[in-house]
Amino acid sequence: MLEYGEPQELAMLRDTLRRFVNSEMPRSEAARWDAEGIFPRKVHRKLADLGVMGLTIPEEYGGAGRNIPATMAVIEELSKRSLAVAVPYIATTCYGGMNILRSGSEAQKQEYLPKLAAGELMFAFGVTEPDIGGDVASVKTTARREDGKIVVSGAKRFITGANVADYIYTVVRSDPSAPRYKNLSIVLIPRETDGVHIEKIKSIGMRGGASTTDITFDKVEIPEANILGGEAGWNNGWSLIAGAGLDVEKLEVAAMALGIAEAAVADAAEYASTRQQFGKAIGEFQAIRHALAEARTDLHASRLVLYHAAALAQERRPCSIESSMAKLFVSERAHKTVLACQSILGAYGCVEGFDMERYVRDILIFPIVGGSSAIQRNNIAKRFEQRR
Ligand SMILES: Cc1cc2nc3c(=O)[nH]c(=O)nc-3n(C[C@H](O)[C@H](O)[C@H](O)COP(=O)(O)OP(=O)(O)OC[C@H]3O[C@@H](n4cnc5c(N)ncnc54)[C@H](O)[C@@H]3O)c2cc1C
Repeated sequence: MLEYGEPQELAMLRDTLRRFVNSEMPRSEAARWDAEGIFPRKVHRKLADLGVMGLTIPEEYGGAGRNIPATMAVIEELSKRSLAVAVPYIATTCYGGMNILRSGSEAQKQEYLPKLAAGELMFAFGVTEPDIGGDVASVKTTARREDGKIVVSGAKRFITGANVADYIYTVVRSDPSAPRYKNLSIVLIPRETDGVHIEKIKSIGMRGGASTTDITFDKVEIPEANILGGEAGWNNGWSLIAGAGLDVEKLEVAAMALGIAEAAVADAAEYASTRQQFGKAIGEFQAIRHALAEARTDLHASRLVLYHAAALAQERRPCSIESSMAKLFVSERAHKTVLACQSILGAYGCVEGFDMERYVRDILIFPIVGGSSAIQRNNIAKRFEQRR
């Protein structure tokens, strides 16, 4: 199907990615990475050779030029085959590249962006805590200044890829006495620092090697140079994380969900054309035809919503409403679509050995991660009220 309004360069990028996926990410390997919890580092390096790690980074820092729709297209294409590759790609380009470009000091940009563009670094995005989910501004992990150092204590939960990341982008409470939203900072904590303890959490989906993790920070000392945004970032973390930062985070999640749903529809359509029951292909039954027609309609609408929000983000136009709508709509529809596709495969949609089983496990988390559907509905409602 034609990608509506996509420039030719994006179509060419998709072609390149599809060839890469077919040659470097065979289905059997994608299944193995999921089953054995493997991060295919070699594939990540080969992906870097295509130059796509630099899609969130301007050329002056060694990147390919900031291009949010192209970044989302890469995430979507990789997610059709394997989150074990898509998630580390996000760790480099979004948790790393996008965040450092938007919020880093000039020194931090010079230090990190060229390495990120080369695919040599990965970041984990450390927001959620054992007691803190949607209420991000209430994080309890503390950071205090002591003898020219920052000392971090506390815990983060469900942090994807911290086990393989080089740095943990960590939202901390830096001034316990300051009012809400004026008391937060973001610090960059190297994973290999004394006092950082990481444990894998086995989740229902997203099981590649960059799995979700528990992190504890036991009086972790880092240099002041690791305050995101430099000195100006101290106690100014909320303005760095809210708004544009979370907007793009929502789009990454939507792009993964869209990729998984597209893969599920392709597999279900193929199965429906070959599986024979009652003397004909099940794809000839109206019930199956309608299910696929509805799924394809949802995919089409999801693409429009996602890439419209990505185009706004690219132009640095306000897009909090559109990115929340994209996260809400795409993840909910993808969830519904994958379950519909599972039912087209009947029993074969429920067993290992069929990719559908993995798509189902993976898609279950998407209405929750990156801000739950309820939180997105709250955001949309609040923004519309503010317009009155
Ligand atoms: C596989 C996986 C990977 C993850 N990766 C990361 C990561 O890399 N980094 C990171 O920081 N976090 C990560 N998370 C955490 C994820 O972003 C949170 O789970 C999510 O933000 C929701 O938080 P919570 O689960 O604590 O739910 P809670 O916020 O406790 O909410 C529980 C329920 O209450 C509802 N609810 C809460 N507040 C409201 C409200 N105001 N109005 C209406 N309903 C409400 C929610 O919708 C939800 O249904 C990951 C989670 C998973 C499962």
